[in-house]
Amino acid sequence: MTLNSFLPIQSDSDFSIHNLPYGVFKPRAGGAPRVGVAIGEYVLDVSLLHDAGFFNQTNLASQNVFKESALNAFMKLGRAAWRETRNILQSLLRADSAMRDNEKLRDAALIPQSQIEMLLPVEIGDYTDFYSSEHHARNVGTMLRGAENALMPNWKHLPVAYHGRASSIVVSGTNFFRPRGQIKPADANEPLFSATRSLDFELEMGFLIGAENALGEPIPIERADEFLFGMVLVNDWSARDIQAWEYQPLGPFLAKNFCTSISPWVVTMDALAPFKKSLSAQEPKPLAYLARADDWTYDIELQVSLQSEKMDAPHIITRSNFQNLYWSMNQQLAHHTSNGCNARVGDLLASGTISGAEKISRGCMLELTWRGTEPLLLPNGETRRFLEDGDVVTMRAWCEKNERRVGFGEVTGEILPAREP
Ligand code: CA
Repeated sequence: MTLNSFLPIQSDSDFSIHNLPYGVFKPRAGGAPRVGVAIGEYVLDVSLLHDAGFFNQTNLASQNVFKESALNAFMKLGRAAWRETRNILQSLLRADSAMRDNEKLRDAALIPQSQIEMLLPVEIGDYTDFYSSEHHARNVGTMLRGAENALMPNWKHLPVAYHGRASSIVVSGTNFFRPRGQIKPADANEPLFSATRSLDFELEMGFLIGAENALGEPIPIERADEFLFGMVLVNDWSARDIQAWEYQPLGPFLAKNFCTSISPWVVTMDALAPFKKSLSAQEPKPLAYLARADDWTYDIELQVSLQSEKMDAPHIITRSNFQNLYWSMNQQLAHHTSNGCNARVGDLLASGTISGAEKISRGCMLELTWRGTEPLLLPNGETRRFLEDGDVVTMRAWCEKNERRVGFGEVTGEILPAREP
């Protein structure tokens, strides 16, 4: 049976009744931050529904976890509560719902998205960034070390990652200053302190941890999916010249931690379930703690657009798919905790740049322009080696199957000129 809402929802809307992603919003007219779900052009105020008694018969009754400025309290209630909430919201929004004829409730609980401000949805404790696209790792490795040594010897044995910084993760729409840092240009004998000349985006997706393992107790790969709450789009802004000079031997540092943008809506694993795909066979076979016979990925379309100050409209520069990742999220989490490291509710684990085999599917400027040697030509005649001040980068992601669409909305940000030192 087709599930429809009483609300008019465009067929190309990311926010169908099948999706119901969670976010934290504030009405522009005033009021405290609270939890809502996106539905069509609206946000449904879940905190108000809780106050109105719609959760009285549930385990969520005692505390209104939706009257919070982050999703963490709701996430901590666990999977049964997530599913119960999803069922309640879906039945309230369906075509035959009593809410359809309750004008007072509708007017109070459904707010046009144009009248709200989205906030960072989750209080993120720790942020880890993987490096799980083979195409991305090969392209970058080829540029740095040549095609023969593109992949490091460990790459196909474990999902490589580094610990990032959570304090500089911002919600979509937050603009940021071009960072300064220490760089060493190829023609210089000494390093200098300068605004980055190689500012880049990285097309990534991340998952948010919704359940915890105790310190010292690894999460077995067979149970890893039980710890996943949902996913967001991630733009891991990067300064390539700072990175090139600083990264050895301990990895990325200031090249990565000046700003990381995420989309405001968290799409739940339950909403993504219909879009599961088997993970491609891995060769060599991973060690037992990383092997799950039925492991999976998701068919999520990805797109990046760039708009300079002089352009009238955004121009699509990348089309990729989440299936381009070699390592699964289950493998990433099992590996991350294999030494007993504990994951906490609200942690963000990002995929790494999601590049595919085709040139159009490269997920950052470094690859798209081959380190600046093949500049991108924009429709108005401008060219780009890396990002310039005033550029707006916008990423989108969505799943579509049998006229069912589940999307992530967008993550966008504009680059402001470097501040005076
Ligand atoms: Ca990254």
